[in-house]
Amino acid sequence: MTDAVVVGSGPNGLAAALTLASAGVQVTVLEAADTIGGGTRSSALTLPGLVHDECSGFHPLAVDTPFSRAFDLSAHGLTWRWADIEYSHPLDGGRGAAVRRSVEETAGHLGVDARRWRSLFEPLTRRFDDIAEDFLRPLLHVPAHPVELARFGAYSLLPAAVLAKRWSTPEARALFAGVAAHAFRPFTSPASSAIGVALATAAHRYGWPVAEGGSASIARAVADLLAAYGAKVETGVTVGSLAELGDPDVVMLDVAPAAAARIVGDLMPRRISRALRRYRHGPGSFKVEFAVQGGVPWTHEESRRAGTVHVGGTFEEIAAAEKDVVRGRMPERPFVLVGQQYVADPTRSRDDIHPLYTYAHVPAGYTGDATAAIEAQIERFAPGFRDRLLARHVTSTSGLEMHNANYVGGDVVTGANDPLQLVFRPRLALDPYALGVDGVYLCSAATPPGAGAHGLCGYNAARSALRWIAG
Ligand SMILES: Cc1cc2nc3c(=O)[nH]c(=O)nc-3n(C[C@H](O)[C@H](O)[C@H](O)COP(=O)(O)OP(=O)(O)OC[C@H]3O[C@@H](n4cnc5c(N)ncnc54)[C@H](O)[C@@H]3O)c2cc1C
Repeated sequence: MTDAVVVGSGPNGLAAALTLASAGVQVTVLEAADTIGGGTRSSALTLPGLVHDECSGFHPLAVDTPFSRAFDLSAHGLTWRWADIEYSHPLDGGRGAAVRRSVEETAGHLGVDARRWRSLFEPLTRRFDDIAEDFLRPLLHVPAHPVELARFGAYSLLPAAVLAKRWSTPEARALFAGVAAHAFRPFTSPASSAIGVALATAAHRYGWPVAEGGSASIARAVADLLAAYGAKVETGVTVGSLAELGDPDVVMLDVAPAAAARIVGDLMPRRISRALRRYRHGPGSFKVEFAVQGGVPWTHEESRRAGTVHVGGTFEEIAAAEKDVVRGRMPERPFVLVGQQYVADPTRSRDDIHPLYTYAHVPAGYTGDATAAIEAQIERFAPGFRDRLLARHVTSTSGLEMHNANYVGGDVVTGANDPLQLVFRPRLALDPYALGVDGVYLCSAATPPGAGAHGLCGYNAARSALRWIAG
């Protein structure tokens, strides 16, 4: 019987394990941490009874994919929950904007920018399933839907600062800044629109759901199914080299590229090893979880009902903050992502005390404390916020990396989204998962289609391994 060892139990390691196990491969998963899940872990970080997502909170790209269609995780305890408002963006003076599932309703609140929001997102949303089929796998293939992919590509290749010129109101421009910032790129750089356009379209197509009971439910559901296939999972095992693994037919590495080069060592062809060691990581994140009495008193009323709130002010302010962090400077007013998962999933709260999830974009490896900057940014749009705080839990960039070696320097998206790595990660190759050693594959978010708790990197890598097994 073919056997495989999967190193790392993030969503991609688990997806790879499940894809192999369901094809009849005998699978063992080895995880360095004491709990499985990597970026999909949840715990009571502040007060007992509050469920905080330790990393990933929102899952627009996990709802309907080749992986989610292949495995019915809902039968194993995974339930998606949506807030009324997918994401919002408060501005000064109680103003702001919000994205709802419906393009029409969203546009309806954008005044003179309504038509231009609609003309961008309506056609993309209608054809998003086809577009996603092409961009959620390595891009070196003959596209199944070339016209749709070309339309998506035409917007995505633009710098965010150029695409945002189509809107004139501060509200619409800020809404786009909030999603564009997920790329951790300067808004003037080529293709810095890509992730924003994909996430905004996904919000209209699938929403930005949370997993009921915490993101850990995603890992639990996959682990449950893995157990049914007879796979083994061991925690507390850090793998340092292939030699430690015995002689399995297949090895899947859910690790960062440089770590993969170290683990495979001299067996790896030098050109591949060199490419992996040169892989570029992006800026860092600084995460603070709060326990908040009564929720956040946003002056922008719709933000109280949103799952995600993008905090940072106008397009220009966020553009300046993102430019700073890429250049290694800590901005005074950083971009802060605020997660109110409890709005969609009340099981995470206790009485009227709610778990608030926040992280600021900071320079790679930032050694300062961004807690005060995060609190000041929220207080700016929600006066009285500080008075409601009952507890906080802080994770610095080094804390993130200690928690999970894949987050090098606090880079939560496992690799800079510069134009080359956005498309060809971790290197330019027909099979970007293969590491040049028979049966050994990279399956982390450093491979296509990149970051996110969708498991597609692992699914794609496992399919590559299954093709190799089939000869
Ligand atoms: C703060 C934060 C917020 C995020 N928000 C979102 C979000 O809202 N939506 C979204 O889709 N994504 C989000 N992400 C990104 C998402 O979590 C990651 O892209 C995703 O988890 C990557 O999955 P992975 O399997 O590639 O790796 P990871 O989830 O990073 O898991 C890798 C696993 O491998 C283990 N490991 C590493 N090296 C070794 C070794 N040598 N031996 C054994 N085990 C090892 C690690 O301990 C870890 O458990 C966020 C991430 C963070 C940190």
